[in-house]
Amino acid sequence: MAYSSDGPKPFERASKASHGHIIKNEYLQEFLSNCELPKTKDDLENFDFNFYKISEFEKNPIKNIITIDGGSTQVAVRSRFPSSIMTFYQFGALIFSVDDLDKISESPFVNPEDISKLKEIKRFELVLPTKNIILKNQNSLVNSLRKAIYDFFMRKLDDGNTLMDTFKWFIYEEYGETREDWPLSRCPQCGLRDLSLKKKEMKSDYTFNCPSCNAVLYLTDVFGLQNSVDEELGVGETAAIILLLEQMILVHIIRIILKTSPKLLKHTLFIKDGPLAYYGNSSRMYKPMRNLANYLFDKYDLSLVGLEKSGAFVEHALEISELIPNNSAFLLNDDYIYKYIIPNRENRQYSYGFRTYYSGKLIFKTTEENIYVATLPNLEPTPNPSEKNFKNIDSILFNVAKLKCDMYENSLFPVALVNKLVSLSDHPSSEILKKFAKKNIMQNNL
Ligand SMILES: [Zn+2]
Repeated sequence: MAYSSDGPKPFERASKASHGHIIKNEYLQEFLSNCELPKTKDDLENFDFNFYKISEFEKNPIKNIITIDGGSTQVAVRSRFPSSIMTFYQFGALIFSVDDLDKISESPFVNPEDISKLKEIKRFELVLPTKNIILKNQNSLVNSLRKAIYDFFMRKLDDGNTLMDTFKWFIYEEYGETREDWPLSRCPQCGLRDLSLKKKEMKSDYTFNCPSCNAVLYLTDVFGLQNSVDEELGVGETAAIILLLEQMILVHIIRIILKTSPKLLKHTLFIKDGPLAYYGNSSRMYKPMRNLANYLFDKYDLSLVGLEKSGAFVEHALEISELIPNNSAFLLNDDYIYKYIIPNRENRQYSYGFRTYYSGKLIFKTTEENIYVATLPNLEPTPNPSEKNFKNIDSILFNVAKLKCDMYENSLFPVALVNKLVSLSDHPSSEILKKFAKKNIMQNNL
């Protein structure tokens, strides 16, 4: 905070006076005395941990690594009141071989040219209206958001497919025993509830018509992102949108590998930045994702991990890191999570993340004493997981330990690289995006 030399301004004096008011308030004092916070490591001293020791591999079963990450930045395309905001998203997938990476890490310093030789990058860019902007031919922010998402999924990619082809394959489970319909909670136009989007009624452009008002429904409406929109306050859930689209890109890459060289899948490790979960209105995507992961476990021995960089679990992991032996994983169970990480004493009917995660969480400490919070797809949600719930746990964590990047604290080399590629939030790039957006929006609107 900046202080001026001539003492507090009248407004600041007024706000200090109201602090005094709060401190004396009995209701607030009582409220605070009833609050409980997450535990520290001193509370854990006699806790009976169940650690799992990670096996070492002479011959690494993983030959390729694919990392996926996304980022966003909001740009005020008109800052004078009422402001108009759009959000730019960028997603990247980095593909490289473990052999090439080993060669680079053996050399005494990393040459930027070696890095560019090493990687194959796929990029995905998207811009979404966020506040006080509507698209041409769309009558509301909700419909503008729906159309922008639909258009993004319909764009032809350089592999000749669209994300929409993949999305249809994903939710109608066309890889295995296909399902015939998918529920849509309500029509975004007339509000009709409990619609069923039947695959056989879908048009070639992946749309349907509402049986009541005949409005166009997009297949991508099943994400439910339109439910996070308030016409005045704007679009919420930016973080949930990033998580959703990262995982749709992950599914797309898996599908392309299945189409072109399915044998590769067995030797590929997918690393996603952030947890393997869906949040907010799109959270129910965890269900088809679990079905897909289980199918891929069965047929192709899938290796997939999500790595978290921040949040309550990462803070807790750092707090207890010295209690965990090297090269071991601490598989978190419900009792532990609710007692020590996310305070909750409710009589729980369902496991942690039952309606959002298709994975289970663990804290992993490497031989070099680096700490990671990882999520691995679990075969089914369970309150008390053992290593048997996570397929390929040894080879996944063996490779996570290998990829430690000295350049970035607590980060893996490929993850740091893809993170840098998709990062839009630093100052120069958001200024460039702002100028770019302003130049390209119809001038008379500004
Ligand atoms: Zn309708």
